Amino acid sequence: MKLAVLEQLYKLYSEFVNTQEVCCKRFCAFCCTRNVTITTLEGFYIVNQMSAKEKEDFFGFLDLDLSKDRYIPKITINQLADCCRNGGTPPEEEIDPNWTPCSLLKGEECPVYLFRPFGCRCLVSKVQCGETGFAQIDPFILTVNTIFQQYIEHIDSQGATGNAVDILRHLKSEEFRQDYQRNDVVTGKNLISNLAIPCLMIPPEHRQKVKPILTSIHRIRV
Ligand code: SF4
Ligand code: SF4
Repeated sequence: MKLAVLEQLYKLYSEFVNTQEVCCKRFCAFCCTRNVTITTLEGFYIVNQMSAKEKEDFFGFLDLDLSKDRYIPKITINQLADCCRNGGTPPEEEIDPNWTPCSLLKGEECPVYLFRPFGCRCLVSKVQCGETGFAQIDPFILTVNTIFQQYIEHIDSQGATGNAVDILRHLKSEEFRQDYQRNDVVTGKNLISNLAIPCLMIPPEHRQKVKPILTSIHRIRV
């Protein structure tokens, strides 16, 4: 059920991106760093479509990067919304765009491209990052990205968020996958607990423009 909702959110987001002016395409991998964060649901979606042999190979090459620097989030997007709503100060976080390449990347190819997490789908740029050295993202796209991220965490509120490597490493364990499928609250090293949406983070200037997108999301019955 949750996987079906996730798929519909990905589809809706893809329809939105198709209306935007972006340079992104498959095999363009300049943005593939080790700083991608994902939810347990997104990790489960990736692992769930692999055969036993594919899982063995996948986790094998993932293990090789376990000791490398990567972004370890301290707060989820919905925890951040809650913190801001209550006038709190978010924790300082350590992130370096030079922590590359993503541990999953093989050459220029993402081996899970069709099932890639939202953090990869939503990094879309108006310019070719390989030429400019940085991505250029429209502020309205950033607002839409935040909304989708908040809903993806919301539908996985008993799950967790973490660096893609950490979430996937936990999902290597059959026991962890079974706990997760039973809707047990999942915990583990470098994982932070997800939260249902406390409020949506939408800047005043985008509130009107996002209404059709919010209506479409609510039609999915998130
Ligand atoms: S964000 Fe940049 S590097 Fe990534 S796919 Fe888009 S253009 Fe390519
Ligand atoms: S999961 Fe795939 S698309 Fe995302 S950063 Fe890694 S290689 Fe790139």
